[in-house]
Amino acid sequence: MNLKDLFNGKKTVFSFEIFPPKRDADINTIYTTLDQLHYLDPDFISVTYGASGSLANNSTCEIASAIKKQYCLEAAAHLTCVNSTREEIDIMLERLANAGIDNILALRGDRVPDVPPKEDFPHASDLIRYIRASHYDFGISAACYPEGHPDSPDMIDDIRNLKLKVDAGAEHLISQLFLDNGMFYSFLEKARIAGINVPIEAGIMPVVNKKQIERMVTLCGATLPEKFIKMMEKFEHKPEAMRDAGIAYATNQIVDLLAHGVDGIHLYTMNNPYIARRICQNVKTLF
Ligand code: FAD
Repeated sequence: MNLKDLFNGKKTVFSFEIFPPKRDADINTIYTTLDQLHYLDPDFISVTYGASGSLANNSTCEIASAIKKQYCLEAAAHLTCVNSTREEIDIMLERLANAGIDNILALRGDRVPDVPPKEDFPHASDLIRYIRASHYDFGISAACYPEGHPDSPDMIDDIRNLKLKVDAGAEHLISQLFLDNGMFYSFLEKARIAGINVPIEAGIMPVVNKKQIERMVTLCGATLPEKFIKMMEKFEHKPEAMRDAGIAYATNQIVDLLAHGVDGIHLYTMNNPYIARRICQNVKTLF
């Protein structure tokens, strides 16, 4: 099933994101996670792809295939391009098609320090155009950034480039995490004015410990609202309190987003079924 068909107005889409276990870890740990996540009945689960673009040791395809075949849920496989050649992308597309995957989240990926990027696909829009022109019939999704991508000089430039991705064939967008819903609403308004009319899911990450926040701010530069900083300062040395406060914060974000009529919520589960379950218990009847 093409993900865009989920956005048919009958219900707000609720999806999850997971990541494959690290190279030296046991692959089966992800199936223990999925055993629990699938009971929460998300509309689809997306599986991240290593930024290096390495074909070896890459379990994205295998996990996405299991989500479809063993867990009977819709799946999307992430695919990055900046560190891959056209031949490597061809191999990956064939692998995904043979595994029965219908949907790809097409991404540029981050440049790997000290490794020069390959030149075939400098931007996600190049990958999207390439997949669209291929003989495959994948549904194509792409990433968007409510606060702008860190490489972008400003929001206008970023939205212009986002429109290029949609014009190249992206049919659905998933946002980077954000902690201030106002940022998302403002982005949504700009995107719609720019003629971006595909469904846009709001990416929500429950922040449950301080290390996670520090990493997140370094990676994506998300703005930390005053009330979030206060919460962190108060609970950072009490792990259970911090976890519960993080779940409550994410729950409040989701309630507000649903009240504003967003197209969908994409939960960054961090492979943590306990937290996903708590959030689902809080909001499941609202979808
Ligand atoms: P692009 O859309 O190419 O944009 C990157 C930058 O280039 C932006 O500043 C944009 O404005 C600019 N740009 C785009 N097109 C042009 C153009 N034609 N000319 C000039 N400038 C242009 N990373 C992973 O490694 N693996 C994953 O699985 C993964 N999953 C993700 C899922 C989501 C929902 C999100 C939001 C991010 C994910 N990322 C993942 C991170 C992502 O790879 C990085 O944010 C990366 O730096 C940008 O990828 P992109 O596809 O948004 O790039």
